[in-house]
Amino acid sequence: MSFRQLSLSAFFLFATTAFSQSPTSKEVSSVYPDAHALYLDLHEHPELSGHETQTAAKLATALRAAGYEVTEHVGNTGIVALLKNGAGPTVMLRTELDALPVEEKTGLPYASKVHAKDDAGRDVPVMHACGHDIHMAALLGTAEIMARSKNGWHGTLMLIGQPAEETIHGAEGMIQDGLFTRFPKPDVAVALHVGNDMPAGMAAITPGVYNTNSDSVRITIYGKGGHGAMPQFTVDPIVIAAKTILSLQTIVSREVRPGEMAVVTVGYIRAGTKNNIIPDQAEMGLTIRTFKPEVRKRILASITRITKAESEAAGAPREPLVERYEGTDLVYNDPKLAERLRVPLEAALGKDNVLTAQPITPSEDFSYFTEQGIPALYFSLGGADPQKFAEAKASGNSLPTNHSPLFAPDADATIHAGIAAEVAVLRNLLNASPDELHKYSAEQPSN
Ligand SMILES: [Zn+2]
Ligand SMILES: [Zn+2]
Repeated sequence: MSFRQLSLSAFFLFATTAFSQSPTSKEVSSVYPDAHALYLDLHEHPELSGHETQTAAKLATALRAAGYEVTEHVGNTGIVALLKNGAGPTVMLRTELDALPVEEKTGLPYASKVHAKDDAGRDVPVMHACGHDIHMAALLGTAEIMARSKNGWHGTLMLIGQPAEETIHGAEGMIQDGLFTRFPKPDVAVALHVGNDMPAGMAAITPGVYNTNSDSVRITIYGKGGHGAMPQFTVDPIVIAAKTILSLQTIVSREVRPGEMAVVTVGYIRAGTKNNIIPDQAEMGLTIRTFKPEVRKRILASITRITKAESEAAGAPREPLVERYEGTDLVYNDPKLAERLRVPLEAALGKDNVLTAQPITPSEDFSYFTEQGIPALYFSLGGADPQKFAEAKASGNSLPTNHSPLFAPDADATIHAGIAAEVAVLRNLLNASPDELHKYSAEQPSN
């Protein structure tokens, strides 16, 4: 071997190690037809949370065809697809399966016309208004590339299709059904979410806290019913509820340090049947969003304290009932892991196309996975048509957000970028040793 040959092969070795993590455009375009066909089918045939039977079956069939060992019905309609490729770390990539009770008004040729019965038995329209169809399509393309390039990584790739994200029950259901005992427990977990707040082709990472703790609280106030013309014989729960709502609004303004993230919203109030009847109870539903555990604890305690005190002040015959009936913890991205994965993301999408974003206020049940001690990266994927995005920005408007009947990401560009980003991130992680990944943390340090 001449010196020239030696240096050439050294260059190629360098080139493959440095660049092999990004899929080539040829790799992405070779899997795109399958990903796109799945997207169109799923978009036109969405299913509600917990009822994703056809969706799960379609994804399972496609992943099996790509060479994965697929288990269905994990936590109701969830699926787990494994691709084992020798010794190495286990890395999980998650997509959601569910759609929303929203009537699609995008006018797309493949728009959903589906109606279904919701869990209360009502007939509702159904639409993939959160982009989970994009996530599934990208995951399939990623799965095919990973299966065709097993010499470029080692370990176990674990793909999961999670049901019922929108009702925040799906992740918990899969864990309770043995997600991390019947299957390998991942060393790192990855997920993404598409949104119209960035043009397609871009991604954003948020080192540290990614989103909020979310708590749902139901309050039942008990009064004493009677005739609307004779309030002196009653204890009016509507007046107590009204005072309670206003007092609850002093928690964020008076009890939380200025600048600290906290939201207390009363989303509904239900009481009464007729104008001249004072009912005997009133019910309210609240959502509470926070970043810090100590702020969350304080707010929940203050809600109970204020609610009880207002009922007592009004002479209510019974203490009100304050129930925290559901909640999720925030998703935490270990900053060191996020910075590590910024490198393959920039290599896949271009340096200027990977932004650093502030935490967002919506919540997610992905935190159920990280709470099992699995460090994670949850990142954002741009979905907006670049031209429409620029026009909206110039006119001071914003494009329809997730959950809007008009939510229509630029599917081609978004799915291409989603696949490139996922493959790059997975190859980076699946070239590490498990020990290297164990230094990352799943938990927000307490301060
Ligand atoms: Zn959603
Ligand atoms: Zn979503």
